[in-house]
Amino acid sequence: MTTTDFRIDRRALADVHARETRRFIDTHPRSMALAAEDAAHYLFGVPLHWMRDWPTPAPLHVQRAQNHRLWCADGLEYLDFCLGDTGAMFGHSPVPVARAIAEQAQHGLTAMLPSTLTAEVGRRLAECFRLPRWQITLSASDANRFVLRWARAITGRHKVLVFDGCYHGTVDDTLVDMDAQQRTLTRSSLLGQVHDLALGTVVVPFNDIDAVERALAAGDVACVLTEPALTNCGLVPPLPGFMPGLQEACRRHGALFVLDETHTVSSGWGGHARVEGLAPDFIIVGKAVAGGLPCAVYGFGEAMNERMEAAKRAAPDGHSGIGTTLSANLLALAALHANLGEVMTPAAYDAMLRAAAAIEERLRQVLRQHGAPWSVTRLGARMELQFCAQPPRDASQARAAMDEAVERALHLWLLNRGVVITPFHNMLLASPATRGEDAEPLAQALGGFLSAVRA
Ligand code: PMP
Repeated sequence: MTTTDFRIDRRALADVHARETRRFIDTHPRSMALAAEDAAHYLFGVPLHWMRDWPTPAPLHVQRAQNHRLWCADGLEYLDFCLGDTGAMFGHSPVPVARAIAEQAQHGLTAMLPSTLTAEVGRRLAECFRLPRWQITLSASDANRFVLRWARAITGRHKVLVFDGCYHGTVDDTLVDMDAQQRTLTRSSLLGQVHDLALGTVVVPFNDIDAVERALAAGDVACVLTEPALTNCGLVPPLPGFMPGLQEACRRHGALFVLDETHTVSSGWGGHARVEGLAPDFIIVGKAVAGGLPCAVYGFGEAMNERMEAAKRAAPDGHSGIGTTLSANLLALAALHANLGEVMTPAAYDAMLRAAAAIEERLRQVLRQHGAPWSVTRLGARMELQFCAQPPRDASQARAAMDEAVERALHLWLLNRGVVITPFHNMLLASPATRGEDAEPLAQALGGFLSAVRA
């Protein structure tokens, strides 16, 4: 079969969606009943309103999760390739982290003081990410927000540059869109935003070094904040030379080069920067860095450290606007210590990358067998299935390849066959416990879906 023959039959797709919705309702009575109870107490019936965005008629309610599997309230078992959208990238409840949390929980949860573990955690972060200095926060959103503040404080410049299609958490400066004339706009979907975000942010297309050069030439950009590959708009890999070129342009224009490695830490031990030999001024790692406990870190070199200390000393006494009370709490430190030392190890990455390579290959085989002109892009342990023959080169190409109806039906189909992938796009992660064989149920389900919806 050739890929040129491949078309989705929209009627068949709608039928699949309706059938799979019915099947979910019939096979998940407990999740349905719990959702009905939740409805009385939560906005949109869920404790975080994003949880309503899964394609299921009611959210799957989790009974327990371990390694790369989870079990729902109805006792059904799932292969989990979503892994909490990266928070559980090293598996659900890694044993050393669970043990460290249980132990620390007996001896204090938060004290707004360093613990006996902080020195070792600092050494482990420095060894892994090759940056000597660190700060710890509760979330990657916080870490990004604080790095932007430091960048502005130490450069005395007021703008930040981000790429169209980026997501760095709920960080106002980054929640911008780009119009057809490449102008920066406050994202129209934001609730309660009263500031014109274009005053402090400039947005340009990813992989467009000329657009970066033009924006940096104005001399008012404090930093470029980017992921090494866009991972929140499908997956847009950097073209060869783009990241080194970006780093060089930042240096030349006196802008700081900030890498958000919250997702791309999937690339290998030490993250994408280490694997690719990049030298960012700041690096941010969140979500999975403490094994899934709320925690994130940002790292920097001695030169930045000096400039940050000088900026703080030069400012009037009072609040810096950087930090939160529970940041670097005792429990988070214990989880970080265990995760960095015993879970997020080079050996764990070997297993993750091996499994992911096998899954990638198996998915490609299924796509070839069915003549589907879709692509699989892999960043170490992270994969993205995209409805386009070649990986996109920027957000506009990534958006053009999206097909919400196909995506929602596919996710529901997979879920009804015991396979969970990340909602909002088609991301799959391999944890250290994931094996190449885990590709099989996924491949079977994907093949079945393609047969059911193709014209
Ligand atoms: N950075 C990146 C690259 C992300 O994808 C996300 C969330 N998806 C964040 C930061 C924010 O993480 P959190 O929601 O845990 O603050």
